[in-house]
Parts: sequence; structure tokens; C-alpha cells
Amino acid sequence: MSGGSVPSGGHTTVIQRILERRAQRLPVTHEETTATIAVMLRVVPPPKTLLVCQDLSLRRQLERRIAAALLECESSADEDEALARCAAEHRALIVTDSLELIRRLRARLTQRAPFVIYLAGLDEPAARAAGLAAGADECLGRRAAEQELDARLACARRIAELEAVLRVTLAENRKLSATDDLTRLASRRFFSKHFPREVERAARYGRALSLILCDIDLFKGINDSLGHAAGDQILRQFGARLQKQLRRGIDWVARIGGEEFAVVLPETGYEAALEVARKLRAAIAQTQFTSERKGIGVTASFGLCGLDRVPAGERRLAERVLKIADAALYRSKHSGRNRVTATMFNAGSE
Ligand code: GH3
Ligand code: MG
Ligand code: MG
Repeated sequence: MSGGSVPSGGHTTVIQRILERRAQRLPVTHEETTATIAVMLRVVPPPKTLLVCQDLSLRRQLERRIAAALLECESSADEDEALARCAAEHRALIVTDSLELIRRLRARLTQRAPFVIYLAGLDEPAARAAGLAAGADECLGRRAAEQELDARLACARRIAELEAVLRVTLAENRKLSATDDLTRLASRRFFSKHFPREVERAARYGRALSLILCDIDLFKGINDSLGHAAGDQILRQFGARLQKQLRRGIDWVARIGGEEFAVVLPETGYEAALEVARKLRAAIAQTQFTSERKGIGVTASFGLCGLDRVPAGERRLAERVLKIADAALYRSKHSGRNRVTATMFNAGSE
């Protein structure tokens, strides 16, 4: 067969169809990227600005300029109130004549830093230097020309909008990813897409398939007592322990919720899957986890749905199997946790 041609008889193989589709996929050009960024920049909400300034007439004048720069503006004369507002909700831009406020803003432990413009009393190098030393990103004299103020505000707006677009893009990427960032296991998205495929495949060949769901017991308490970072460490170790017990390249684990995992066992019937679930439970409960060299006891509850022979022609089978495993997990939780509950799938019995 020559490259890309349909073999005689009009029959195309799956591989051929994949290759053809791949060949049709056009590379993303720089123009497309530029156009996408332009659209994203146009549709991001106006960055929130907080103007903190004692002088009423200066404040009124700045409010007008800030609104003209397409920034959403709130203003305040009180520094404590301004800090409280920033703590309650991120402000992308702070415009202020107070060095003390800038110092206090920069001393906070926050994940997102605002862009800060300092309005110096006098337009002198020493005043600008003091603003920068306090932590401002930009300094200008309060009597600066409107043109200069507008240019600085436009620059701050651009930075805030670019950051907002970057955040949206990263969140989207995370959603699209097949891998869970924290545990490096398969993501929920991967599970939603590929578990039904596993079920379809098993149904096509009349093979066995089982699903185990597990949920860490009282994990909120672990987070509350040891902190979120220790909780994350435990989640990583938990995922690694599950994976270690499984057949490489056949069984697979996905993190489908905060502390919820799904274990897919192809070619595995009810009894064998029950053995695996018991082994997993023991692997979690028998040896302590570690965080900052401290041993932490962790247990998990398990729910299993096993099919010795996946039936063909059943509607929404993957969804039903998931529901059964979830109900079994719920029973494990409600009968005391750290246990396995198993259900054998019977068509029509749910
Ligand atoms: P149960 O035994 O009934 O499952 O109790 P639980 O405390 O495990 O359940 P609950 O649903 O009340 O709490 C789950 C906790 O998991 C709450 C949430 O803060 C935590 N969590 C979810 N995702 C993450 C994460 O990515 N990292 C950390 N550290 N904690 C997370
Ligand atoms: Mg849970
Ligand atoms: Mg839990």
C-alpha cells in the first residue's frame, strides 16, 4: 500500500484513520496564538484597583483617571480598611500616597502581589527612591502630567490583564491534562474518558473487569492537624502505594477527587479484584506514612464493583459500574471505615 491511499476494497484500518486524522491537523500558527491572546485580553474583567489617598481633591482627580484607564476603581482614605479589603479580595492595582501602606502590603503573606503605584509628594529622585524601597513598582509625583499618569496606569493594567490571562490559561491546561499534578497519577479527566473505553473493550470481547474506588479516611483531620502541605505529601505517598501494589502497564489508578482514587483492573473478575482491594487496604493501613520525619497512621475505605464477564449491549455500563462501586464505598464509610465492601455486577439488579 502506498502512503495514505485507501487499500483495495475501500477498507481502512484504525491505524490508518488515526494517521490520516493526524496529517490533517494543522499546526497552530503565531497569528492564531496572537489572535487568541487578543480575544482573551479583551474579555478579561477590568482589573480591580484600590486608591488609598487622604487628599480628597487628589482622590477625585485620580478616580477619574483610573476609570478612564478602564480599571475598576474603589477608593479609601483609611489604610487599615484598605488592607482589610485587600485581604478579603485580591486587588490587582493599588495606587497610594502612603509609604507605610506599601510596606504593610508587601509584608503580608499572600499568594498574589498587587502592582503598586506610589504617588510621591514631590517629583524628586529621593522621593521616588523611597517609594521603590518601600516596595512600589512605579513612582510618580502627585503633580505629574496627566499624560504620564495615564501611561503608568495603562502599563499597570496591561500587567494585571496579562497575569489574569496567564492564570486562566494555566487553569484550563490543568483541566485538560491527563495527569494529576500532585500525584502524577491519571487525572479525573483521563478517567472519565478512558474508563468507559475499558468497559467497552471488555464488553466487546466478553472479558472480566473490576473497578475499585477508595477514599482516605478522615483526611480533613490530617490536613487540619498537620497542615495542607503535609496533606499533599500524604496524597503523593498514598498514590504511590496504590500503584506499587498493581500490575504495571495493565492496572491503572486515577485521582478522581481530592482524596478519592479509582483503580481500574482490566481482565480481573470479582474474586481476584477483592483480593487486590484487601491488599491495597492493608498496604495503606499497615505501614505509617511520613511527613517531616513523623510517622502518620492513615487508613482508607474501599468500594468494589467486579464483573467476571462484562456483558455486551448494556446501556451506560461504565456509569452504572461506577455508581455501584461508589455505593459500596459509601457502605465501607458508614460501617466504620478502613474496610472493603464489594459488589458483583448483575445486569438489571442495580
Ligand atoms: P471521610 O472519612 O468521611 O472521607 O472523611 P474526610 O475528612 O476524608 O472527608 P471530607 O470530604 O470531609 O474531607 C476531605 C478533605 O480532603 C477536605 C479537603 O480539604 C481535603 N483535600 C482535598 N483535596 C486536597 C488536596 O489536594 N490536598 C490536601 N492537602 N487536602 C485536600
Ligand atoms: Mg472524599
Ligand atoms: Mg475522605
